[in-house]
Amino acid sequence: MTCAHLSEVRPVQPQTDGCQECLEQGTQWVELRLCLSCGHVGCCNSSSGRHAQAHFHATGHPIVRAFRTGNDWAYCLEDGVYVDTEAIDQAVQAAIHHASRMRLQQHAKYFRLV
Ligand SMILES: [Zn+2]
Ligand SMILES: [Zn+2]
Ligand SMILES: [Zn+2]
Repeated sequence: MTCAHLSEVRPVQPQTDGCQECLEQGTQWVELRLCLSCGHVGCCNSSSGRHAQAHFHATGHPIVRAFRTGNDWAYCLEDGVYVDTEAIDQAVQAAIHHASRMRLQQHAKYFRLV
């Protein structure tokens, strides 16, 4: 089974240094997961909060990447499969490329109108 959600991947910055909800609630996490759609940082399913999973249920953002664990892997919560990190990096590049092309098109439209 492969993941069909690579188009949901964005060039994100981590929003927080640790699990966002655990930091707010003062609870501990085991490992961290970074949401590749918005940059939310949540804790793994071995943590008591399971906030990465909760974030997926709340938002539908499917793909997380291991965050500061010492291992680099990505996982699709929707499909329940690991996703090739090279494919993730390519999707991020494609998203950056798409965003800059959109900006250029907007510029072009602007100059034609003026
Ligand atoms: Zn998927
Ligand atoms: Zn948490
Ligand atoms: Zn997210």
